[in-house]
Order: sequence, then C-alpha cells, then structure tokens
Amino acid sequence: MNGKIFIIEDEASIIQLIQHNLEKEGFIVSSSVNGNDGLKELKKFQPNLLLLDWMLPDFSGIEVCKNIRKDISLKNLPIIMLTAKGEEEDKIKGLDSGVDDYLTKPFSFNELLARIKAVLRRADPKVVSDKIEFDDLKLDRIEKRVFRDNKEIQLGPTEFRLLEFFLTNPKRVYSRDQILESVWPNNINVESRTIDVHIRRLRQSINLKDKKELIRTVRSSGYSLV
Ligand code: CA
Repeated sequence: MNGKIFIIEDEASIIQLIQHNLEKEGFIVSSSVNGNDGLKELKKFQPNLLLLDWMLPDFSGIEVCKNIRKDISLKNLPIIMLTAKGEEEDKIKGLDSGVDDYLTKPFSFNELLARIKAVLRRADPKVVSDKIEFDDLKLDRIEKRVFRDNKEIQLGPTEFRLLEFFLTNPKRVYSRDQILESVWPNNINVESRTIDVHIRRLRQSINLKDKKELIRTVRSSGYSLV
C-alpha cells in the first residue's frame, strides 16, 4: 500500500505510534497537532484518508470536519474520527457530521488498520488493492511484478515505487516536490535531477514499441500518468 494518511491529533505520543506503524504498512504519513495547521497542511499533502481527533486545542474535530466538507478539493476525503469518551460516540452517531467511521480510544493498532482499510476499500479501492491496473499496465504489490500488455517488465525498486505511486493517483499532476515526498519520504537529500533520472528509466522500461506514452511531462508543473 502506498496511500497517504494525514493525522490531526494533539497527543504527540499517539501520532508517533500511529505514524510508525502505518509507515511499516507502506503508508505515507504526515500530521498536525491542531486543526488550523491541519487544514492548511491537508491541502498540500492531498491524503487518501484523514485520522481526526475529536478534542483539539483550537477547533473540535467536528468543526475541522465541517470545514473539510465545505472545501471543494477535500469534500470527499474519507475521515475516521478518534474519540475518547462514550459520550462522544453518541454525539458522532447522532451527528450528520460527514465522518466515515469513528474509533474510541484506547484502540489497538490492528483495529485502527482494519478500519482504515475498510474505509479506503469503500472510498478509494485502488489504495488498498494488491493489484492495480491502468490502461494495459498491471502492477502486483505483493509479488512486486509489473506487466504491460501482458508482458512482464523488470523494474528497479525505485522505479517500482514511482510507478506504484502514479498508478495509485492516475491523471493527477504531481510536482517533483510531491513525488519526492511520496516516493522518497525519508530522504531529504534527493535532488529533482534524481527524480528526472528515475522517471526516464521508468519510461524506458514501460514504453514498449508501438505503445503509447503513459507518463506525461507537464511543463513547469511535473508529471502525470495518463
Ligand atoms: Ca485530543
């Protein structure tokens, strides 16, 4: 999985625990400790799912949620609310708040992961699927194999991650910074030149003779799978 998950939660220890475990599962994770920063960061990060704490120092989770639903670019973002008390559960159930699911603290990571997968399976199936297809391209996340027009293609590990990233988010245009953040999440020393080199290698590998170009260069913006 290489879906992106954003966490808004004011307890650093909870963020650390969730982030560490989600990254081990292959997710790309970013976070904020309050609603105001969270709303700004979300737009830049463009996650596939949001984990949202109910009690935040500035806004309540419900207010953050309402703001998200008003925003055209975020209004379909799946949200799982993290709550502390039984009373909050009742409120969430009773509210038409636009929350997709909720989880009461304390929860186990496995329970959280199961909820995340269930919500993503409904909202954004390609993020949790083992096999992704686009046009005549097929990628198997478990077996780490790629096929174009039913012919197997050998890719290096970086090119595989790049292709997986593009396939999870086809047709969206990504800047080099966004690609860097998603495909090399822990490496701040990667230069944009390096990204271009890997994109070129990926193109050379997947562009079979007589087949159309799948990765488009968008002048001054970045790249896109089309
Ligand atoms: Ca809290």
